[in-house]
Amino acid sequence: MTETLLSFEESLEKFDPAMGLEVHVELSTATKMFCGCPGDFGAEPNTQVCPTCLGLPGSMPVVNGKAVEAAIRIGLALNCEIAEWCRFARKNYFYPDMPKNFQTSQYDEPICFDGFMDVDVDGETFRVEIERAHMEEDTGKSLHVGGSTGRIHGASHSLVDYNRAGIPLIEIVTRPIMGAGEKAPAVARAYVAQLRDLIVALDVSDARMDQGSIRADVNLSLAPKGTGALGIRTETKNVNSLRSVERAVRFEMQRHAAILDGGGSIVQETRHWHEDTGVTTSGREKSDAEDYRYFPEPDLVPVAPSREWVEELRGTLPENPTQKRARLQAEWGFSDLEMRDTVGAGALLIIEETVAAGATPQAARKWWLSDLARRANDAGVELAAVGVTPAQVAAVQQLVDARTINDKLARQVFDGLVAGEGTPEEIVEKRGLAVVSDDGALSAAVDKAIADNPDVADKIRAGKVAAAGALIGSVMKEMRGQADAGRVRELILEKLT
Ligand SMILES: [Zn+2]
Repeated sequence: MTETLLSFEESLEKFDPAMGLEVHVELSTATKMFCGCPGDFGAEPNTQVCPTCLGLPGSMPVVNGKAVEAAIRIGLALNCEIAEWCRFARKNYFYPDMPKNFQTSQYDEPICFDGFMDVDVDGETFRVEIERAHMEEDTGKSLHVGGSTGRIHGASHSLVDYNRAGIPLIEIVTRPIMGAGEKAPAVARAYVAQLRDLIVALDVSDARMDQGSIRADVNLSLAPKGTGALGIRTETKNVNSLRSVERAVRFEMQRHAAILDGGGSIVQETRHWHEDTGVTTSGREKSDAEDYRYFPEPDLVPVAPSREWVEELRGTLPENPTQKRARLQAEWGFSDLEMRDTVGAGALLIIEETVAAGATPQAARKWWLSDLARRANDAGVELAAVGVTPAQVAAVQQLVDARTINDKLARQVFDGLVAGEGTPEEIVEKRGLAVVSDDGALSAAVDKAIADNPDVADKIRAGKVAAAGALIGSVMKEMRGQADAGRVRELILEKLT
């Protein structure tokens, strides 16, 4: 079914958007939330399970202290209050990949609450208020077999992998974000990008959106322009890239606007995001009064972090992200626009690592925001998963600086790196990519280019030095791009002027 959309511009003329973001962060603790099973990603199905995370009768959960520590550090970094005493609660519902038939979560007593994060978009700062960050456990994973898309629709049967059941999660929930207007999609993206950077800096999660270790649910509603009211919202689940967060907000704004403008009303529901087509489709209806029959978890003792411990953890926090961005911009000499593009592309940390590996900031920015960003985009993965490391980018740039290769040949080295052909030096060797700067070979190619283009040569002889570009192009073509263009130019001018 094709949804009717109002244009983005028209939706903004008539309505004000309000967003709410719920981000689940999977912690990279050695063990699960309530048992000693390892929580590694990608293990053989159902090999990392025990009676507790399978919810077998009589098993007893124990809280993972490292997960509590991570929760508190995340909360402090988000300027939250830390509860002096809080409990876990059972959230009761049935789902095949949830073996206990309830999820151990937190309800009205979250460990972290009342925080905020300042988000930079186009030089403007938006304060995103954090309502709460609470601890819970992940569910298992269903694999639907036989359908064309991996979804349950059309599948012949389903398999369940409980390895993920019981992995510690922190769910970070914002208050409604209002007043962002046309920047709402960009604010949503920037919030998730900054939150991810913060999680990486805290070193509490892999923070890989493409592997689901950070998952964003996007709530959106529209209200008639200028009323300041909150409309009926939809919740788009599991949006798994920064770009998609932005697209999902934009799509839902346009979809809501078309319905409201046509006199219809929004159905309060969860919606599925489709990465390939960039649309959302209806999931299940959801009312605010949905009854999960929460009650305090009787098998777990309350969590009561001492104020001394909280202050000790405060001392372990990394540099504040806003200050860090300002510091890096000054150190790198980036313009506001360059910095904005870098942050917007989620490339800040990877450029920082590339600079640490020896590249200049401009060179690091050039590769990560152009060639490598395109590869990541084509493959639908994040920059970190593109198959080239910061150290390799720095090594490639060193080859360019040494004039062993040029920018064009560097792209072929990246091809080789993605294909796993070895180090940058080995790839240059194996693929025969080194630039020719040997005068003998270059001189012969220049002579040939002059002989092939007598009219161009005459122009240069007559003083039109700019015409040399055509001859350089001819030499580069002859030498399959592997000539040192600077030396070729010198030789042409030596011979003709
Ligand atoms: Zn277990």
